[in-house]
Amino acid sequence: TIYPSSHLSNFVARTVKPAFTPLATRSFSSTQPNMVKVLAILYSGGQVAQDEPRLLGTTENKLGLEKLLKEQGHEFVVTDDKEGPNSKMAKEIVDADVVITTPFHPGYLSREVIATAKNLKLCITAGVGSDHVDLNAANERQITVAEVSGSNVVSVAEHVIMTILVLVRNYNVGHEQIVLGKDGGWKVSAIARDAYDLEGKVVGTIGAGRIGYRVLQRLVPFNCKELLYFDYQDLPGDAAKQVNARRVADLKDFLSQCDVVTVNCPLHEGTRDLINADTIKSMKKGAWLVNTARGAICNAEAVKAAVESGHLLGYGGDVWNHQPAPKDHPWRSMKNAHEGGNAMVPHYSGTTLDAQKRYADGTVEILQNWLNGKPQTQANLIVEKGDYATKAYGQRK
Ligand code: NAD
Repeated sequence: TIYPSSHLSNFVARTVKPAFTPLATRSFSSTQPNMVKVLAILYSGGQVAQDEPRLLGTTENKLGLEKLLKEQGHEFVVTDDKEGPNSKMAKEIVDADVVITTPFHPGYLSREVIATAKNLKLCITAGVGSDHVDLNAANERQITVAEVSGSNVVSVAEHVIMTILVLVRNYNVGHEQIVLGKDGGWKVSAIARDAYDLEGKVVGTIGAGRIGYRVLQRLVPFNCKELLYFDYQDLPGDAAKQVNARRVADLKDFLSQCDVVTVNCPLHEGTRDLINADTIKSMKKGAWLVNTARGAICNAEAVKAAVESGHLLGYGGDVWNHQPAPKDHPWRSMKNAHEGGNAMVPHYSGTTLDAQKRYADGTVEILQNWLNGKPQTQANLIVEKGDYATKAYGQRK
């Protein structure tokens, strides 16, 4: 199962309502009845994807959708070309009924782009996190946005634990001595001066949903001093008790108590730039910050300044405020005063081969439900019928 049983009430479908107008009464772009145009924005895998068919989330392997859609007579366009008005995405979206995009190579559906997509009825996120769609604009147009909830939450939680350890144990400085020959290829003191145990530290998560809770669960055996969470939703039932986590209601109060902060909430109006020059001041000097949620939750320049000044000993994660990240992005070059403290990688934590199978299957299911006029799994719906279907994208009435 995707969720711990104690956590069920937070995440299972509360009501299952007919989500979509039955196929027969819908109008599609195509002149042929019941034919739709599906546009998928995926990352290109090149030869690697041809060699490894389990790389389902690539333009080559197409989420396993090609045969299925072609057999049903639908039009299916796949591209990785997504930036600007002359991109293939911009050209193809104008008459697409469905857009599928993956957060790893997001097709950004801004308000302006949505305005050009006259036939758009459904956006599917092949993965988790639908901030690449302007959700308010989608609501105004009654466009449904659905994602494959839970599909990669373990993949990300494992990556969070890895990144925390990479930073706290100062792994990269040691690794670079070995593979790049830095510090003469072997200088233990240069590694150890910033290396600590995770045991005895206070670790807190911003967002204690599916991923945040799994991070807390995985931290339990490390005997941290305390586990904290900051979220406007309480953990359900005895979930907090099971991991011995304490909720802190005020963000600055929360930040001031943590040695390690891990960010696990969606990006929305209330979380964009949440970690900025001002809130970083509340963090302990020498703390570590890990963000695998969305790059834009942490202000790029403020994080770089904090790492370089030594206020933060390190920052790590896999998400960037624009993807692919530009060559001169501040997080590529930032280092602390001792040449460490950077645990950034490209966005891949939620796209392990295990995860790709799950989100590809989930994408097929969402699409098939829609094509057949069947209700969606409630937990997969982000916005529907002009309103938010989830409580995770900010506190709303
Ligand atoms: P979820 O919906 O289960 O949980 C999100 C939690 O964040 C909820 O409990 C919600 O109340 C909380 N939250 C929202 N706004 C908040 C705020 N202002 N302050 C504190 N908490 C807030 O979602 P999830 O499955 O745990 O995923 C969380 C996010 O992780 C996704 O939205 C996505 O952006 C990101 N993600 C990244 C990857 C990756 O590969 N790096 C993969 C999957 C998901």
